[in-house]
Amino acid sequence: MDLCIIGSGYVGLVSGACFAEVGHHVICVDNDQRKVDMLQRGEIPIYEPGLEELVHKNVAAKRLRFTNSIEDGVDHSQIIFIAVPTPPQTDGSVDLTFIERVAREISGVLKPGQYRVVVDKSTVPVKTGEKVEATIKRYNKDAEFDVVSNPEFLREGCAVPDLMNPDRVVIGSASQKATDLMKRVYEPFQAPILVTDVNSAELIKHAANSFLSLKISYINAVSAICEASGADVEMVADGIGTDKRIGRNFLNAGLGYGGSCFPKDVKAFIAISRQLGTPFTLLEEVERINATMLTRFIDKVRSALWVLKDKKIAVWGMTFKPDTDDVRNSVAIELINQLVAEGAHVTAYDPKGAEKAVEWGLVDPTKVKLAKTPIEAVADAEALLLATEWKEFANVDFAAVKAKMHTPLVFDGRNLFDPQTMADLGFTYHAVGRPGPKAGA
Ligand code: NAD
Repeated sequence: MDLCIIGSGYVGLVSGACFAEVGHHVICVDNDQRKVDMLQRGEIPIYEPGLEELVHKNVAAKRLRFTNSIEDGVDHSQIIFIAVPTPPQTDGSVDLTFIERVAREISGVLKPGQYRVVVDKSTVPVKTGEKVEATIKRYNKDAEFDVVSNPEFLREGCAVPDLMNPDRVVIGSASQKATDLMKRVYEPFQAPILVTDVNSAELIKHAANSFLSLKISYINAVSAICEASGADVEMVADGIGTDKRIGRNFLNAGLGYGGSCFPKDVKAFIAISRQLGTPFTLLEEVERINATMLTRFIDKVRSALWVLKDKKIAVWGMTFKPDTDDVRNSVAIELINQLVAEGAHVTAYDPKGAEKAVEWGLVDPTKVKLAKTPIEAVADAEALLLATEWKEFANVDFAAVKAKMHTPLVFDGRNLFDPQTMADLGFTYHAVGRPGPKAGA
């Protein structure tokens, strides 16, 4: 099938590459000329495992191309996916100006007799589909189209496998013709397809991300009780997570959730519920618990070092999760900036995210030293803080780390290391919600 994707970011580019991989012809559109130029030169603007190979292979096979022209995309494709940003506004509600603009741009290039399915893949508040439809009609009375909601559930860091093998595909549609076309798009993926009305599909996405955030805050609240009582949150998470009704995923205590989706989607769902007159106050508590995790963590560091000013602190991890270069709304970046604000001398290392953190102005390179290796980061450090659980950190030579550090003090914000092993290596080790070594032994 001929598909167009407007917005070639984490969702649009990976979706485009995966649609092409299963045999569709895909045009990825972006209005960021720099991004389009890079993609046309064969350079991939984001890091996502497996993406580069997939893009090169499908460009070579002439199933994937890039343009800055919406008209080009809409002209040559029966199905138009929208994958542009839906950032939060200061009151937490969603800024829909990107979506509205794309709706107008599509309406401007739709030709009479040219039936198109306009698919919203961006995460949007319930009832956005109705507004997209009304907008296209308002600017183009002759347009023949249907609007479908097809929320995306990929996780950055494993976006390619997530898109190739989705747990389910949600198609929110009021038109049989559009539903049939959408089913053909997804047929090669052999995934369960759930067809709903447009409003339900939109709501599924916010409800799903809010529920996952709630699971994280739940285990984080339990971790505080573990710390106060001497229990081990990892054992508790295993104990409750093996219950099939609960599941172990997303029961990882730590610094809390961050990234470009969970914080904004929880905020959006709170705002939507208020606008609809049914405030979802449970989610306000989810946010509150999440915010306390970083504060509790920094308090622990402060209680060990007393004063942070002029202390040399190494931070491992800058991205919001491993296997991505995405540093948007990363708790690790917040941690670094809070330490810097207290006068600490921070040296940070991240396998993929450091460059973007500087490029996007999220850390000040005159105030934060960026190391090229994890070992370089810990040179002379009085404490090592682990903020993102990259696998690379689990495999570091800790004897070399200890030899380089000023003081062998480790704060593990993601419970990546084993307390007993760290103690045996001679580190004073602090995790989240876990007692010191030997507990439970
Ligand atoms: P992104 O910022 O990585 O990409 C968006 C792209 O859209 C950018 O390249 C931007 O230049 C482009 N764009 C903006 N306006 C445009 C226009 N008028 N015409 C053409 N291109 C335009 O964003 P993302 O992370 O891919 O997220 C996109 C949407 O998908 C958001 O609603 C997000 O909530 C949702 N989502 C994201 C993820 C994720 O893990 N990143 C997962 C599921 C859903």
